[in-house]
Amino acid sequence: MHRCAYCGHHEGEPYAGGHKKYDIDHFRPKSDPKFQHLKNTYSNLYYCCKHCNISKSDEWPSPEEEAQGYQFLDPCMVDFEDHFRVDQVSFMLDISISSLQNAAAYTVEVVGLNDECCIKIREKRAEAISASEDMERILDRLNRLANSVDDPEIAMQLYELLPQVREANARKDELQVWLNPQPS
Ligand SMILES: [Zn+2]
Repeated sequence: MHRCAYCGHHEGEPYAGGHKKYDIDHFRPKSDPKFQHLKNTYSNLYYCCKHCNISKSDEWPSPEEEAQGYQFLDPCMVDFEDHFRVDQVSFMLDISISSLQNAAAYTVEVVGLNDECCIKIREKRAEAISASEDMERILDRLNRLANSVDDPEIAMQLYELLPQVREANARKDELQVWLNPQPS
C-alpha cells in the first residue's frame, strides 16, 4: 500500500513527504459522467503520490484516441515492468520493450513519469544499489585476503583496503533509506 501505483515512489523515501502527500486516484475519473458509478468502487481507487494524481487529474483518452490504442496502462491489470525499462544513463523510462506502445507513451506523458522528480528518484535508487554493491565487493575481497594474511604483501593490501571500506560503508549508510524506505 505504501507505493504510488504509477511511479512506484514509496511514501517513506526522500522527497515523498509521507502518507499526507499521497492521495487516492480514481483510475477512471469521477468527473466523467460515464464513470460516475465507479466513484466509490474500491477497484477503481488507486493509492498514488500527489505528483501522479495531479498530473493524471481528470484525463481520459477520447474514443478516437482509445481506438488508436492510446490509454492508461492499468497498474492493477498489467505489470509495469513489462512495459517500462529504466534507462541506466538518463534514468528515463524507456517504452521500447512495451507491446502496447501507444498506451505506454500515453501513460508516461499524461502521468508525467519522465518528469524531473521521477528521474531523480530513479537515479538515487540506482546510486543506492551501486553503493551497496561496492560494499559487498570490497568486503568479499577483504575476506579472501584475510584468509591468507600470513603473506606480507597481502597484509599490505588489506591495510590499503580498510579506509576504502570505511568510506564505502559511510556512503551506503547515507543512502540506505533508498533501499529500505520506512513509512513515516
Ligand atoms: Zn507517483
